[in-house]
Amino acid sequence: MTTTRFAPSPTGYIHVGNLRTALMNYLIARKSGGTFILRIDDTDPERSKEDYVDGIKQDLEWLGLTWDKVERQSLRLDRYAEAADKLRDMGRFYEAFETPTELDLKRKKQLNMGKPPVYDRAALALSDAEKDALRAERGAGVWRFKLDQERINWADGILGDISIDAASVSDPVLIRGDGQVLYTLASVVDDTEMGVTHVVRGSDHVTNTATQIQIIRALGGTVPEFAHHSLLTGPQGESLSKRLGTLSLRDLRAAGVQPMALLSLMARLGSSDPVELRADMAELIEGFDISRFGSAPTKFDEQDLYPLTAHHLQSLPYSDVEAQVTALGVPEHLGLHFWSVARDNITTLHDLEGWWTLFRDGADPVIEDEDREFVAQALEMLPDGPYDGDTWGIWTAAVKEATGRKGRGLFMPLRKALTGQSHGPDMSQVMPLLQVIRAKG
Ligand code: GLU
Repeated sequence: MTTTRFAPSPTGYIHVGNLRTALMNYLIARKSGGTFILRIDDTDPERSKEDYVDGIKQDLEWLGLTWDKVERQSLRLDRYAEAADKLRDMGRFYEAFETPTELDLKRKKQLNMGKPPVYDRAALALSDAEKDALRAERGAGVWRFKLDQERINWADGILGDISIDAASVSDPVLIRGDGQVLYTLASVVDDTEMGVTHVVRGSDHVTNTATQIQIIRALGGTVPEFAHHSLLTGPQGESLSKRLGTLSLRDLRAAGVQPMALLSLMARLGSSDPVELRADMAELIEGFDISRFGSAPTKFDEQDLYPLTAHHLQSLPYSDVEAQVTALGVPEHLGLHFWSVARDNITTLHDLEGWWTLFRDGADPVIEDEDREFVAQALEMLPDGPYDGDTWGIWTAAVKEATGRKGRGLFMPLRKALTGQSHGPDMSQVMPLLQVIRAKG
């Protein structure tokens, strides 16, 4: 039975970067009929905020990424303490007392000597008396996991075969001096106890994975399948890290991006399959294959979301947007027709308002000097509304007859006089929507 999890820290909102992680884990679980856990990584009481927990849930709900279970790390601290005791008993856990400044100095020295800046395990040599003295002087130390200095190998679902020399990695700190359990340990305990079978996360976690594999083995757990997706960059390959704050799901939602547009893009970006707009979640699940993703950084361009959004909107039945349309004040009998006219001429639903304002209040007429007489004559021939689907055809035929104008020279000045624009929906469709024709006076 497949079990995956999305494990955000509630220290911010979901952005396009971590959306990829959420989506991939979700799709793997759903494709195999497994379980998808939303795990809130809130062991840091200072940075974790309840508002972000709520925000993360709202964002996932907006996208339709439903979870089967919510877990919270802050409610599982006893489990982590138990695992820590186990590691201590096994001799795989040791207390270290270096201050950040001392560690920094050590790293600088190592780098100067051309050595990798790996923690030198000086704390392992401390006697009990020395530890007591340090504890008395500096308070409790941090707890580090003693890595076995061997190669750590795994077959990564995206990166392929990975082999990391544990000797090139510092023994990870799993518990801070103030007793706070760090993510590396908490995550391993959870993944093991919750039966997580597949872990997909960003490639910034590759080194974590190496150390976590050893911790899982030490605790007697089963190592899940790992896959690390590449990180997103901007369209030019530039780092997105500073911009991610402005690429939050809530900002995109406010800008009018549609969930299926965002999901369709994210389910394919960075894979060897083309981006295709999917109609619904079932299609998205069906078309997802993690083995198609590559390790190269993935370029993300926010602008790609808008054509997909427009395309998605074109496919929506009126019932899906009725609430938004009526909220604009479109009379009930015109709602369906308004949608069928407007939907091909919008990028986001926000654009509906502009169209309705135009139809309701009429446009400032645009009339070229050379057309002034022609337009005046034509407008005199236009009866008062309301109009229907035949009005435009009958009217322009009569105007053609009376003025001898035809084609573009006939239609364009009339379109511009009525809508103030030189392009837009089919005029015979527009006429029944026009509540006011300002050019008519
Ligand atoms: N809370 C971690 C993060 O957001 C989870 C990483 C993981 O998937 O293990 O980076």
